[in-house]
Amino acid sequence: MSVSPAPDATATTPPRLRFAPSPTGFLHVGGARTALFNWLYARQTGGQFLLRIEDTDRQRSTDESTRAIFEGLAWLGLDYDEEVVFQGANLARHRADVATLLASGAAYRDFTPAAELERMRAEAESAGQAFRFDRALAALTPEQEAAKLAAGEPFAVRFKVPDGVTDWVDAVHGRIAFPNKDIEDFIILRSDGTPVYNLAVVSDDIAMRITFVMRGDDHISNTPKQILLYRALGAPVPRFAHVPMIHGTDGKKLSKRHGATAVGDYQHEGLLPSAMCNFLALLGWSTGDDTEVMLRDELLARFSLDGLQKKAAVFDPQKLDWMNGQHLAKLPLDEVMPHVYPAFERQGVSTRAELESRDAWFRTLVELLRVRSRTVDELARQAVPYFVDAVEYDADAVSKQWRDASAVAEILTATRERLASLPTWEPTSMETALRALAEELGISGGKIFQPLRVALTGQTASPGIFDVLVVLGRDRSLDRLEAAVRWLKSDVVA
Ligand code: GLU
Repeated sequence: MSVSPAPDATATTPPRLRFAPSPTGFLHVGGARTALFNWLYARQTGGQFLLRIEDTDRQRSTDESTRAIFEGLAWLGLDYDEEVVFQGANLARHRADVATLLASGAAYRDFTPAAELERMRAEAESAGQAFRFDRALAALTPEQEAAKLAAGEPFAVRFKVPDGVTDWVDAVHGRIAFPNKDIEDFIILRSDGTPVYNLAVVSDDIAMRITFVMRGDDHISNTPKQILLYRALGAPVPRFAHVPMIHGTDGKKLSKRHGATAVGDYQHEGLLPSAMCNFLALLGWSTGDDTEVMLRDELLARFSLDGLQKKAAVFDPQKLDWMNGQHLAKLPLDEVMPHVYPAFERQGVSTRAELESRDAWFRTLVELLRVRSRTVDELARQAVPYFVDAVEYDADAVSKQWRDASAVAEILTATRERLASLPTWEPTSMETALRALAEELGISGGKIFQPLRVALTGQTASPGIFDVLVVLGRDRSLDRLEAAVRWLKSDVVA
């Protein structure tokens, strides 16, 4: 048996965990969530996080999907230790482990022809019963078996499920027990010589010295079979944690109907990976208090197995948007900037080269806008007024803030004069000057600032008005005021 020694699950050596996706589609948010939990636990405990691509289903596995897994993990920052393991490359070991089980009597050959099995299954079903393989059907004398082998008759290998109960203490669910009588003598090697999932997983987890298996709770029914295989192979049984499935807001299993479920879609939409990680972490785990917004270091500090939940998690895209806005505001600016440039290009606002040529100015603008946007694309759209020669006036803004056109034109004319006369273009003197003007005119500051905001940005909402003036610069601000006054006095309004 080619089993390397694994540390006992109860030992204090750092745990070894793995993420074992099947490359049969894009990297699903559920898979990414499971990968994240494994990664967090490994990084937090000084353990290892390994990646295994379960590509044994040749028909359904694609290179494209494998690439999507690599790319998704890299984008989320979930780095793995050691070389990636491709399950399909381990066929020889899988078969060797089956041979070990045959040799020890823990497994047996089943020469029952497929058609015969089918017939029995159909018969049981028509009698309203679930078909269970009876090991007596496969019983042969050593001579009979030798003769069939010599004749080259095909056979599957079945695991001989012992009597008793198989149980484990799940890190999420507590003790889970399955009476062995409910487990059929399951096939571990098909008649075409390919191993089944349960055998390949156990063989690989033993070889990779995995001590902690954390995966979706859709695998709970596989776990007793796997535990039986570990024992029969003489390997220590790892710890298990079965994390909840992810549902849509309608309570149904998350699917395409609920919108994007591929991690790559979010990446290409400009979502911040740190927000995605934070959002994913809360799908099946909670801090136990109200804390929701956590950057990577905080997640690493706070993640704990105790906070894992049993009940299905709900994927709420609106919450993801909100979370992204929180991260956009909270992250160090340097971490945000690389995501901002592509958004400006996507939205056709500016080019990376142009933005980089005005770096200090651009960073100031991003600082102002990031606290007011949920996504980098929204930020780029909000930045439009700072890039165009002339702003378009939003109809609502006009009807709200420019209702009395001639009065507003007068206020803005005076505002322009005051600003134009300032020796320096900085917020304090602007504010002093405009507040003095308001007093002289016998109006509130808002009666100047709100129409001014529309003149400068075309909108009713923007960063603080003095910040806007500074970012736009003197010439552009004064031009915009002039254009606004012209517009207010034009026929459009009259
Ligand atoms: N390849 C399996 C899946 O994608 C995971 C196996 C496991 O984690 O044990 O569901």
